[in-house]
Amino acid sequence: MSDNTKAIFTGDRCLSCTSCMANCPVMAAVKEYRGPKLVGPAHGRMHFSQEDIEESLNYCSNCKSCDRACPSGVAVSTLNMLQRAEYYKKHEHLRHEDMLAHGERMAKLIRMMPFGATFSNIGMSIGKTLGIFSALGLAGERNMPAYASTSFKDGFKRIKQAPASKKLVMFTGCFINDNEPQVGQAFVKVMNANGYEVLIDEGFNCCGSPLVVTGFLDEARQHADNNVARILDWKRKGIPVVTPCTSCSLMLKEEYHELFGEHEMHEAAQNVYDAFEFLEILQERGEFNENVKPLNQKLLYHVPCHLKSQAIGLPAQNILEEYKVAKVQTADAGCCGISGNYGFRKDKYEISMKIGAKLFERVKQQDFDKVISDCGTCRMQIHHGTNIKPVHPIEILAKAYA
Ligand code: SF4
Ligand code: SF4
Repeated sequence: MSDNTKAIFTGDRCLSCTSCMANCPVMAAVKEYRGPKLVGPAHGRMHFSQEDIEESLNYCSNCKSCDRACPSGVAVSTLNMLQRAEYYKKHEHLRHEDMLAHGERMAKLIRMMPFGATFSNIGMSIGKTLGIFSALGLAGERNMPAYASTSFKDGFKRIKQAPASKKLVMFTGCFINDNEPQVGQAFVKVMNANGYEVLIDEGFNCCGSPLVVTGFLDEARQHADNNVARILDWKRKGIPVVTPCTSCSLMLKEEYHELFGEHEMHEAAQNVYDAFEFLEILQERGEFNENVKPLNQKLLYHVPCHLKSQAIGLPAQNILEEYKVAKVQTADAGCCGISGNYGFRKDKYEISMKIGAKLFERVKQQDFDKVISDCGTCRMQIHHGTNIKPVHPIEILAKAYA
Protein backbone atom coordinates (compact mmCIF):
# COMPACT_ATOMS: atom_id res chain seq x y z
CA MET A 1 0.00 0.00 0.00
CA SER A 2 1.26 3.46 -0.85
CA ASP A 3 2.21 5.63 2.10
CA ASN A 4 0.52 8.42 0.15
CA THR A 5 -2.98 7.09 0.74
CA LYS A 6 -4.97 9.79 2.41
CA ALA A 7 -7.47 7.39 3.94
CA ILE A 8 -5.03 5.44 6.09
CA PHE A 9 -4.24 8.46 8.22
CA THR A 10 -7.90 9.05 9.03
CA GLY A 11 -8.31 5.78 10.99
CA ASP A 12 -6.72 7.25 14.11
CA ARG A 13 -9.48 9.86 14.33
CA CYS A 14 -12.06 7.18 15.20
CA LEU A 15 -13.90 7.96 18.44
CA SER A 16 -15.68 4.59 18.55
CA CYS A 17 -18.99 6.41 18.50
CA THR A 18 -20.58 3.63 16.34
CA SER A 19 -22.44 6.11 14.15
CA CYS A 20 -21.03 4.32 11.10
CA MET A 21 -22.44 1.03 12.36
CA ALA A 22 -25.88 2.51 12.92
CA ASN A 23 -25.91 3.79 9.33
CA CYS A 24 -24.47 0.76 7.54
CA PRO A 25 -27.21 -0.88 5.44
CA VAL A 26 -25.31 -4.15 5.14
CA MET A 27 -24.85 -4.45 8.89
CA ALA A 28 -28.60 -4.01 9.31
CA ALA A 29 -29.23 -6.77 6.78
CA VAL A 30 -26.55 -9.35 7.72
CA LYS A 31 -25.79 -10.40 11.25
CA GLU A 32 -22.44 -11.92 10.22
CA TYR A 33 -21.05 -8.53 9.18
CA ARG A 34 -18.91 -7.15 11.97
CA GLY A 35 -19.43 -3.63 10.70
CA PRO A 36 -17.53 -0.60 9.48
CA LYS A 37 -15.94 0.43 12.78
CA LEU A 38 -14.19 -2.89 13.22
CA VAL A 39 -13.22 -3.67 9.64
CA GLY A 40 -12.40 -0.04 8.81
CA PRO A 41 -10.57 2.03 11.43
CA ALA A 42 -9.93 -0.73 13.95
CA HIS A 43 -8.18 -3.06 11.56
CA GLY A 44 -6.70 -0.09 9.76
CA ARG A 45 -4.82 0.82 12.92
CA MET A 46 -3.34 -2.66 12.91
CA HIS A 47 -2.05 -1.94 9.40
CA PHE A 48 -4.12 -4.78 8.02
CA SER A 49 -1.93 -7.40 9.63
CA GLN A 50 -4.65 -9.92 10.45
CA GLU A 51 -5.08 -12.75 8.00
CA ASP A 52 -8.71 -13.46 8.93
CA ILE A 53 -10.21 -10.05 8.24
CA GLU A 54 -11.70 -10.89 4.90
CA GLU A 55 -14.58 -13.08 5.95
CA SER A 56 -16.42 -10.12 7.34
CA LEU A 57 -14.87 -7.40 5.18
CA ASN A 58 -16.20 -9.22 2.13
CA TYR A 59 -19.68 -7.97 3.05
CA CYS A 60 -18.86 -4.28 2.60
CA SER A 61 -20.52 -2.90 -0.55
CA ASN A 62 -18.60 0.41 -0.64
CA CYS A 63 -21.90 2.30 -0.47
CA LYS A 64 -20.13 4.93 1.67
CA SER A 65 -23.02 5.47 4.10
CA CYS A 66 -20.50 5.02 6.93
CA ASP A 67 -18.28 7.83 5.64
CA ARG A 68 -21.21 10.20 5.54
CA ALA A 69 -22.26 9.26 9.07
CA CYS A 70 -18.82 9.62 10.63
CA PRO A 71 -18.41 12.81 12.70
CA SER A 72 -14.61 12.51 12.60
CA GLY A 73 -14.10 12.31 8.85
CA VAL A 74 -12.77 8.75 8.91
CA ALA A 75 -12.65 7.38 5.35
CA VAL A 76 -14.12 4.10 6.53
CA SER A 77 -15.20 2.63 3.19
CA THR A 78 -11.86 3.46 1.60
CA LEU A 79 -10.03 1.79 4.48
CA ASN A 80 -12.18 -1.25 3.74
CA MET A 81 -11.29 -1.17 0.05
CA LEU A 82 -7.58 -0.82 0.85
CA GLN A 83 -7.81 -3.82 3.15
CA ARG A 84 -9.68 -5.79 0.52
CA ALA A 85 -6.85 -5.11 -1.93
CA GLU A 86 -4.35 -6.33 0.68
CA TYR A 87 -6.32 -9.54 1.02
CA TYR A 88 -6.14 -10.19 -2.72
CA LYS A 89 -2.39 -9.83 -2.71
CA LYS A 90 -2.32 -13.22 -1.03
CA HIS A 91 -5.51 -14.78 -2.39
CA GLU A 92 -6.74 -15.59 -5.88
CA HIS A 93 -9.73 -13.74 -7.26
CA LEU A 94 -12.76 -15.90 -8.03
CA ARG A 95 -13.92 -16.13 -11.64
CA HIS A 96 -17.05 -14.02 -11.17
CA GLU A 97 -15.04 -11.32 -9.37
CA ASP A 98 -12.75 -11.11 -12.36
CA MET A 99 -15.74 -10.88 -14.72
CA LEU A 100 -17.52 -8.19 -12.71
CA ALA A 101 -14.36 -6.12 -12.36
CA HIS A 102 -13.52 -6.14 -16.05
CA GLY A 103 -16.74 -5.09 -17.77
CA GLU A 104 -14.85 -2.52 -19.86
CA ARG A 105 -12.52 -5.19 -21.26
CA MET A 106 -15.47 -7.48 -22.06
CA ALA A 107 -17.43 -4.69 -23.77
CA LYS A 108 -14.44 -3.79 -25.97
CA LEU A 109 -14.16 -7.41 -27.14
CA ILE A 110 -17.89 -7.58 -27.87
CA ARG A 111 -17.82 -4.32 -29.84
CA MET A 112 -15.04 -5.70 -32.03
CA MET A 113 -17.25 -8.58 -33.25
CA PRO A 114 -19.91 -8.14 -35.95
CA PHE A 115 -23.30 -8.18 -34.20
CA GLY A 116 -21.37 -8.70 -30.96
CA ALA A 117 -23.97 -6.91 -28.81
CA THR A 118 -26.84 -8.97 -30.24
CA PHE A 119 -25.03 -12.29 -29.80
CA SER A 120 -23.93 -11.36 -26.27
CA ASN A 121 -27.47 -10.42 -25.26
CA ILE A 122 -28.78 -13.74 -26.61
CA GLY A 123 -25.94 -15.56 -24.84
CA MET A 124 -26.69 -13.81 -21.55
CA SER A 125 -30.36 -14.67 -21.84
CA ILE A 126 -29.59 -18.34 -22.51
CA GLY A 127 -26.96 -18.34 -19.78
CA LYS A 128 -29.48 -17.07 -17.27
CA THR A 129 -32.13 -19.61 -18.30
CA LEU A 130 -29.70 -22.55 -18.13
CA GLY A 131 -28.36 -21.50 -14.74
CA ILE A 132 -24.87 -20.81 -16.09
CA PHE A 133 -24.69 -17.42 -14.32
CA SER A 134 -25.41 -19.08 -11.05
CA ALA A 135 -22.77 -21.74 -11.66
CA LEU A 136 -20.27 -18.94 -12.32
CA GLY A 137 -21.04 -17.27 -8.98
CA LEU A 138 -23.33 -14.58 -10.39
CA ALA A 139 -26.87 -13.82 -9.23
CA GLY A 140 -28.98 -16.05 -11.48
CA GLU A 141 -32.14 -14.13 -10.56
CA ARG A 142 -30.93 -11.00 -12.29
CA ASN A 143 -30.60 -10.01 -15.91
CA MET A 144 -27.13 -8.79 -16.67
CA PRO A 145 -27.28 -5.33 -18.30
CA ALA A 146 -28.07 -5.74 -22.00
CA TYR A 147 -25.65 -4.21 -24.50
CA ALA A 148 -27.06 -1.48 -26.71
CA SER A 149 -26.77 -2.36 -30.39
CA THR A 150 -24.69 0.82 -30.92
CA SER A 151 -22.51 2.17 -28.15
CA PHE A 152 -22.96 5.78 -27.14
CA LYS A 153 -19.50 6.71 -28.44
CA ASP A 154 -20.19 5.16 -31.88
CA GLY A 155 -23.57 6.91 -32.08
CA PHE A 156 -22.00 10.16 -30.87
CA LYS A 157 -20.02 10.45 -34.11
CA ARG A 158 -23.32 10.92 -35.96
CA ILE A 159 -24.70 13.61 -33.62
CA LYS A 160 -24.62 16.98 -35.36
CA GLN A 161 -23.56 19.70 -32.93
CA ALA A 162 -23.19 23.35 -33.80
CA PRO A 163 -19.56 24.36 -33.14
CA ALA A 164 -19.44 26.50 -30.00
CA SER A 165 -16.70 28.42 -28.26
CA LYS A 166 -17.76 26.86 -24.95
CA LYS A 167 -16.73 23.20 -24.79
CA LEU A 168 -16.80 20.40 -22.26
CA VAL A 169 -15.47 16.86 -22.29
CA MET A 170 -18.01 14.17 -21.45
CA PHE A 171 -16.76 11.28 -19.31
CA THR A 172 -19.33 8.76 -20.51
CA GLY A 173 -18.89 5.97 -17.97
CA CYS A 174 -19.08 2.33 -19.11
CA PHE A 175 -22.77 1.78 -18.34
CA ILE A 176 -23.98 4.76 -20.34
CA ASN A 177 -21.61 3.97 -23.20
CA ASP A 178 -22.47 0.30 -23.53
CA ASN A 179 -25.91 -0.14 -22.01
CA GLU A 180 -27.84 3.15 -21.86
CA PRO A 181 -26.66 5.38 -24.73
CA GLN A 182 -29.96 7.29 -24.56
CA VAL A 183 -28.71 8.88 -21.32
CA GLY A 184 -25.61 10.11 -23.13
CA GLN A 185 -27.72 11.46 -25.98
CA ALA A 186 -29.90 13.35 -23.50
CA PHE A 187 -26.74 14.74 -21.87
CA VAL A 188 -25.50 16.06 -25.23
CA LYS A 189 -28.88 17.64 -26.00
CA VAL A 190 -28.98 19.42 -22.63
CA MET A 191 -25.40 20.67 -22.85
CA ASN A 192 -25.93 21.86 -26.46
CA ALA A 193 -29.07 23.70 -25.31
CA ASN A 194 -26.87 25.44 -22.75
CA GLY A 195 -24.39 26.57 -25.39
CA TYR A 196 -21.75 23.86 -24.90
CA GLU A 197 -20.22 21.68 -27.57
CA VAL A 198 -19.61 18.21 -26.14
CA LEU A 199 -16.29 16.49 -26.84
CA ILE A 200 -15.39 12.86 -26.25
CA ASP A 201 -11.91 11.82 -25.18
CA GLU A 202 -11.39 8.25 -26.46
CA GLY A 203 -8.30 7.97 -24.25
CA PHE A 204 -10.23 7.75 -21.00
CA ASN A 205 -10.49 4.36 -19.27
CA CYS A 206 -13.30 3.10 -17.09
CA CYS A 207 -13.11 5.17 -13.89
CA GLY A 208 -12.02 2.01 -12.05
CA SER A 209 -14.85 1.72 -9.55
CA PRO A 210 -15.60 -1.97 -10.41
CA LEU A 211 -11.88 -2.73 -9.99
CA VAL A 212 -11.64 -1.04 -6.59
CA VAL A 213 -14.60 -2.88 -5.09
CA THR A 214 -13.29 -6.24 -6.27
CA GLY A 215 -9.78 -5.69 -4.95
CA PHE A 216 -7.93 -5.05 -8.23
CA LEU A 217 -6.32 -1.95 -6.80
CA ASP A 218 -3.15 -1.98 -8.92
CA GLU A 219 -5.24 -1.97 -12.09
CA ALA A 220 -7.49 0.74 -10.67
CA ARG A 221 -4.34 2.80 -10.05
CA GLN A 222 -3.35 2.46 -13.72
CA HIS A 223 -6.81 3.71 -14.73
CA ALA A 224 -6.52 6.57 -12.25
CA ASP A 225 -3.09 7.64 -13.52
CA ASN A 226 -4.26 7.64 -17.14
CA ASN A 227 -7.55 9.43 -16.44
CA VAL A 228 -5.98 12.02 -14.15
CA ALA A 229 -3.30 12.87 -16.74
CA ARG A 230 -6.01 13.41 -19.35
CA ILE A 231 -8.22 15.47 -17.02
CA LEU A 232 -5.23 17.71 -16.22
CA ASP A 233 -4.57 18.07 -19.95
CA TRP A 234 -8.14 19.32 -20.46
CA LYS A 235 -7.80 21.54 -17.40
CA ARG A 236 -4.77 23.24 -18.96
CA LYS A 237 -6.91 23.92 -22.04
CA GLY A 238 -9.67 25.39 -19.83
CA ILE A 239 -12.16 22.64 -20.70
CA PRO A 240 -14.10 20.95 -17.88
CA VAL A 241 -14.83 17.22 -17.66
CA VAL A 242 -18.48 16.45 -16.93
CA THR A 243 -20.20 13.11 -16.38
CA PRO A 244 -23.81 12.00 -15.96
CA CYS A 245 -22.69 8.94 -13.93
CA THR A 246 -22.53 9.59 -10.19
CA SER A 247 -20.22 6.68 -9.38
CA CYS A 248 -17.77 7.89 -12.04
CA SER A 249 -17.89 11.46 -10.77
CA LEU A 250 -17.30 10.30 -7.18
CA MET A 251 -14.35 8.19 -8.26
CA LEU A 252 -12.75 10.97 -10.33
CA LYS A 253 -13.45 13.70 -7.80
CA GLU A 254 -12.77 12.00 -4.49
CA GLU A 255 -11.91 8.34 -4.45
CA TYR A 256 -8.71 8.52 -6.53
CA HIS A 257 -7.20 10.96 -4.11
CA GLU A 258 -8.50 9.15 -1.06
CA LEU A 259 -7.17 5.79 -2.27
CA PHE A 260 -3.87 6.87 -3.78
CA GLY A 261 -3.21 10.29 -2.29
CA GLU A 262 -1.33 11.93 -5.18
CA HIS A 263 -1.52 15.71 -5.35
CA GLU A 264 -2.34 15.59 -9.09
CA MET A 265 -5.47 13.60 -8.30
CA HIS A 266 -6.70 16.36 -6.05
CA GLU A 267 -5.84 18.94 -8.69
CA ALA A 268 -7.64 16.98 -11.43
CA ALA A 269 -10.72 16.69 -9.23
CA GLN A 270 -11.16 20.48 -9.44
CA ASN A 271 -11.92 20.06 -13.16
CA VAL A 272 -14.58 17.32 -12.81
CA TYR A 273 -18.30 17.87 -12.35
CA ASP A 274 -21.38 15.72 -12.07
CA ALA A 275 -23.86 16.68 -14.83
CA PHE A 276 -26.41 18.53 -12.71
CA GLU A 277 -23.71 20.02 -10.51
CA PHE A 278 -22.35 21.61 -13.69
CA LEU A 279 -25.80 22.85 -14.70
CA GLU A 280 -26.29 24.36 -11.26
CA ILE A 281 -23.00 26.23 -11.65
CA LEU A 282 -24.29 27.60 -14.97
CA GLN A 283 -27.47 28.64 -13.17
CA GLU A 284 -25.48 30.46 -10.47
CA ARG A 285 -23.55 32.29 -13.18
CA GLY A 286 -26.79 33.26 -14.93
CA GLU A 287 -25.79 31.11 -17.92
CA PHE A 288 -28.40 28.37 -17.61
CA ASN A 289 -30.82 28.18 -20.53
CA GLU A 290 -34.17 28.73 -18.83
CA ASN A 291 -36.15 28.10 -22.00
CA VAL A 292 -37.69 24.84 -20.79
CA LYS A 293 -41.27 23.72 -20.99
CA PRO A 294 -43.15 22.24 -18.02
CA LEU A 295 -43.79 18.51 -18.39
CA ASN A 296 -46.49 18.44 -15.71
CA GLN A 297 -45.09 15.29 -14.17
CA LYS A 298 -44.59 14.16 -10.60
CA LEU A 299 -41.28 12.37 -10.20
CA LEU A 300 -40.06 10.09 -7.44
CA TYR A 301 -36.33 10.64 -6.97
CA HIS A 302 -34.07 7.92 -5.62
CA VAL A 303 -30.91 9.81 -4.65
CA PRO A 304 -27.89 7.51 -5.21
CA CYS A 305 -25.53 6.95 -2.27
CA HIS A 306 -22.63 8.04 -4.46
CA LEU A 307 -24.32 11.37 -5.17
CA LYS A 308 -24.97 11.95 -1.46
CA SER A 309 -21.28 11.30 -0.82
CA GLN A 310 -20.29 14.19 -3.06
CA ALA A 311 -21.94 16.68 -0.69
CA ILE A 312 -23.26 18.80 -3.56
CA GLY A 313 -26.88 18.69 -2.46
CA LEU A 314 -29.56 17.63 -4.93
CA PRO A 315 -28.82 19.70 -8.05
CA ALA A 316 -31.12 17.62 -10.32
CA GLN A 317 -34.09 18.21 -8.04
CA ASN A 318 -33.23 21.88 -7.69
CA ILE A 319 -33.03 22.45 -11.45
CA LEU A 320 -36.14 20.44 -12.36
CA GLU A 321 -38.21 22.19 -9.69
CA GLU A 322 -36.78 25.69 -10.02
CA TYR A 323 -37.84 25.84 -13.68
CA LYS A 324 -41.10 23.97 -13.07
CA VAL A 325 -40.10 21.14 -15.40
CA ALA A 326 -41.59 18.65 -12.92
CA LYS A 327 -42.45 18.16 -9.27
CA VAL A 328 -39.79 16.05 -7.60
CA GLN A 329 -40.23 14.11 -4.39
CA THR A 330 -37.28 12.22 -2.88
CA ALA A 331 -37.92 8.56 -2.05
CA ASP A 332 -36.02 8.80 1.28
CA ALA A 333 -35.78 5.03 1.43
CA GLY A 334 -32.03 4.60 1.90
CA CYS A 335 -29.60 2.59 -0.20
CA CYS A 336 -31.06 0.59 -3.12
CA GLY A 337 -28.74 -2.29 -2.19
CA ILE A 338 -27.04 -3.00 -5.51
CA SER A 339 -23.91 -0.85 -4.95
CA GLY A 340 -22.30 -1.24 -8.36
CA ASN A 341 -21.51 -4.90 -8.95
CA TYR A 342 -22.20 -6.02 -5.33
CA GLY A 343 -25.78 -7.15 -5.97
CA PHE A 344 -24.70 -9.06 -9.08
CA ARG A 345 -22.81 -11.56 -6.94
CA LYS A 346 -24.70 -14.74 -6.13
CA ASP A 347 -23.68 -14.61 -2.47
CA LYS A 348 -24.77 -10.95 -2.14
CA TYR A 349 -28.02 -11.02 -4.11
CA GLU A 350 -30.34 -11.66 -1.15
CA ILE A 351 -28.58 -8.99 0.92
CA SER A 352 -28.93 -6.46 -1.86
CA MET A 353 -32.65 -7.21 -2.21
CA LYS A 354 -33.17 -7.00 1.54
CA ILE A 355 -31.48 -3.60 1.64
CA GLY A 356 -33.56 -2.39 -1.32
CA ALA A 357 -36.91 -3.61 0.07
CA LYS A 358 -37.89 -0.27 1.62
CA LEU A 359 -37.20 1.55 -1.64
CA PHE A 360 -39.11 -1.05 -3.67
CA GLU A 361 -42.13 -0.59 -1.40
CA ARG A 362 -41.94 3.17 -1.83
CA VAL A 363 -41.74 2.86 -5.63
CA LYS A 364 -44.62 0.39 -5.77
CA GLN A 365 -46.96 2.94 -4.16
CA GLN A 366 -47.01 4.57 -7.62
CA ASP A 367 -48.20 8.03 -6.58
CA PHE A 368 -45.97 9.59 -9.27
CA ASP A 369 -45.50 9.51 -13.05
CA LYS A 370 -41.87 8.40 -13.25
CA VAL A 371 -38.95 7.32 -11.08
CA ILE A 372 -35.64 9.09 -11.58
CA SER A 373 -32.13 8.32 -10.37
CA ASP A 374 -28.72 9.54 -11.53
CA CYS A 375 -27.02 6.14 -11.08
CA GLY A 376 -27.25 3.39 -13.71
CA THR A 377 -27.06 0.43 -11.33
CA CYS A 378 -29.58 2.04 -8.94
CA ARG A 379 -31.93 2.27 -11.94
CA MET A 380 -31.31 -1.41 -12.70
CA GLN A 381 -31.99 -2.42 -9.10
CA ILE A 382 -35.24 -0.45 -8.93
CA HIS A 383 -36.36 -1.99 -12.22
CA HIS A 384 -35.48 -5.47 -10.97
CA GLY A 385 -37.21 -4.98 -7.61
CA THR A 386 -40.38 -3.31 -8.89
CA ASN A 387 -40.72 -3.86 -12.65
CA ILE A 388 -40.86 -0.06 -12.98
CA LYS A 389 -38.08 1.34 -15.15
CA PRO A 390 -36.52 4.57 -13.87
CA VAL A 391 -34.79 7.15 -16.03
CA HIS A 392 -31.87 9.52 -15.48
CA PRO A 393 -33.00 13.06 -14.55
CA ILE A 394 -31.04 14.39 -17.55
CA GLU A 395 -33.51 12.51 -19.78
CA ILE A 396 -36.34 14.50 -18.18
CA LEU A 397 -34.54 17.81 -18.67
CA ALA A 398 -33.71 16.91 -22.29
CA LYS A 399 -37.44 16.43 -22.96
CA ALA A 400 -38.13 19.86 -21.50
CA TYR A 401 -35.89 21.49 -24.09
CA ALA A 402 -38.04 21.59 -27.21
S1 SF4 B 1 -19.35 1.25 2.74
FE1 SF4 B 1 -21.50 0.76 3.14
S2 SF4 B 1 -21.49 -1.47 3.44
FE2 SF4 B 1 -19.36 -0.81 3.64
S3 SF4 B 1 -19.09 -0.48 5.83
FE3 SF4 B 1 -19.66 1.49 4.93
S4 SF4 B 1 -21.87 1.64 5.19
FE4 SF4 B 1 -21.31 -0.51 5.47
S1 SF4 C 1 -18.53 6.91 12.83
FE1 SF4 C 1 -16.36 7.44 12.60
S2 SF4 C 1 -15.69 7.96 14.67
FE2 SF4 C 1 -17.63 6.86 14.88
S3 SF4 C 1 -17.03 4.69 15.15
FE3 SF4 C 1 -17.38 4.98 12.97
S4 SF4 C 1 -15.35 5.49 12.14
FE4 SF4 C 1 -15.24 5.78 14.36
